Amino acid sequence: MATPLMSYRDVSYWLSSLDEPLTPRPPLPGGTEADVAIVGAGYTGLWTAYYLAHADPSLRIVVLEREIAGYGASGRNGGWCSALFPTSLTALGRRHGRDAAVAMQRAMQETVREVGRVVAAEGIDCDWARGGTVVLARTEAQLGRARAAVAEARAFGFGPDDLALLDADEAAARCAAEGVRGGTYTPHCAAVHPARLARGLARAVERLGVTIHERTPVSEIRPGAAVTPAGLVRAPVVVRATEGYTPQLPGQRRTVVPVYSLMIATEPLPEHVWARIGLAGRETFSDHRHVIIYGQRTADGRLAFGGRGAPYHFGSRVRPGYDREPEVFAALRRTLGDLFPALGPDVAVTHRWGGPLGVARDWSASVGLDRVTGLAWAGGYVGDGVSTTNLAGRTLADLIRGVESDVTALPWVGHRSPRWEPEPLRWLAVNAGLRVMFSADAAEARTGRPSRRAALFGRFLGH
Ligand SMILES: Cc1cc2nc3c(=O)[nH]c(=O)nc-3n(C[C@H](O)[C@H](O)[C@H](O)COP(=O)(O)OP(=O)(O)OC[C@H]3O[C@@H](n4cnc5c(N)ncnc54)[C@H](O)[C@@H]3O)c2cc1C
Repeated sequence: MATPLMSYRDVSYWLSSLDEPLTPRPPLPGGTEADVAIVGAGYTGLWTAYYLAHADPSLRIVVLEREIAGYGASGRNGGWCSALFPTSLTALGRRHGRDAAVAMQRAMQETVREVGRVVAAEGIDCDWARGGTVVLARTEAQLGRARAAVAEARAFGFGPDDLALLDADEAAARCAAEGVRGGTYTPHCAAVHPARLARGLARAVERLGVTIHERTPVSEIRPGAAVTPAGLVRAPVVVRATEGYTPQLPGQRRTVVPVYSLMIATEPLPEHVWARIGLAGRETFSDHRHVIIYGQRTADGRLAFGGRGAPYHFGSRVRPGYDREPEVFAALRRTLGDLFPALGPDVAVTHRWGGPLGVARDWSASVGLDRVTGLAWAGGYVGDGVSTTNLAGRTLADLIRGVESDVTALPWVGHRSPRWEPEPLRWLAVNAGLRVMFSADAAEARTGRPSRRAALFGRFLGH
């Protein structure tokens, strides 16, 4: 049985701030049968169970979770419930045609509304605030990318109500970071308390009659069964909802790479500091640098702030210790101070954590069901899974019930990403990519000019 080195509360600020005991639900007591077995109780597994149980209350649905619901990225993330999809409109258009790209983006926007609807309908108290997202530009190169993002949106028919270009004053009015020269704003995002969403969703799923077994590791997924230490869960459909942990399953080593994203949270900030920073509508925020950063003003007045940049570990290994990289935490604190000088050195960082997300070789999220084997999957969301998992859950519910719908016609359905390279190539490529992006950001901060190396590397990755 997998035992975490730390208590579940230590996993993230979000899990630590829950006002509920994190006592695991009973593990699977022995072999059993179900109509659908779902491996993983993050958002993917839980949304799938939710929509399946809603659509057909007679289905016997069992969710098998190695730790507790929300233990993975779903209980650790930045809490952006956004319409972002990891594949750009241009790349989607190139692969599937313009209409399919537009349909995918509209479906993502609708998904943000749908998560808000369910949160309200199920009484999930997750600090939902639909304040949109502001992405700042603080150098000439970043301004160029802001303009390019808006031009791309316009080329696909999305207007200023979907993505607006902001001048310096408009951007600073939302988020008064140091040296803001402009940015973009989209209303299609809500800030959420991610662990409350995951845990509340687990309870909603149970109210619908779904059984969740926690502390139940699945050692193998095979057609017709999930293998656990207590015995087999036999089911004609088995859903893999394991995202960054997927490479640990037999036969899945090269399906996605686990990329670590790390976060910090400050102590609650006084009103006079918030008056200088802004984010009055709890807009989620970022900027147009290459190595992604992201933040939100939490409902209890903290800045929760994260970024990529932690190393990829050889063999796609995932370990609790990899969640803690002191150098990355220190860099995040420096970046926060650089963005907001109002956060003097005396403002304390009270929490530090991180976790693995899943990246497919072509940077494409996908969802699907193999009708011959009964094996279903969803994942590869990169850093955009908070909402995309909901779309995945609705899609899997339709696919499993054999219903053709608008969502089952979207271009990511049934997409098969190529496998990642074997080691050591994978390790070399992922870590080299990180270094290219970091040095591009450093060069752009010095010169203000866009980095050609970063653009070339982005093309190599195909996004
Ligand atoms: C630090 C961080 C910040 C992020 N910020 C954002 C953000 O702001 N917005 C956004 O959209 N996305 C963000 N993401 C990504 C987002 O959190 C994920 O895409 C999403 O939570 C994935 O949900 P999931 O259910 O597919 O995977 P997970 O939440 O990782 O759930 C997988 C579950 O499967 C369980 N499991 C794994 N293997 C087994 C096994 N063999 N047997 C049984 N159980 C197993 C795990 O314990 C886990 O609970 C972030 C991710 C991280 C790590």
